[in-house]
Amino acid sequence: MKKMTCKQLGGACNKEFRANSFEEIAAMSKQHGMEMFQKKDEAHLKAMSEMQQLMQNPDAMQEWFENKKVEFDSLPEEWE
Ligand SMILES: [Zn+2]
Repeated sequence: MKKMTCKQLGGACNKEFRANSFEEIAAMSKQHGMEMFQKKDEAHLKAMSEMQQLMQNPDAMQEWFENKKVEFDSLPEEWE
C-alpha cells in the first residue's frame, strides 16, 4: 500500500489516497476530482483545467503519467 496526495496527482488539496497500484490510485484521484468538480471547488476546477490542457497533447499526458507512475513506484510502502 502506498499513498499519494491529491496535489501530487495533479489535484489541488492534501487529501491522501492509498492503493497498491498506480492505476488504482489514479482512478481514486480521478473519482475525487469528479466529486470536487461537481461541488464546483475552485482550486480543483483550476487544477482540472490545467490537466485538460495537458490532455490536449497526448505525448505530454503520457509523459506526465509515466513520471507519476515512477514517483508512485519509488514511494515507500505504508503499513497502516
Ligand atoms: Zn483534492
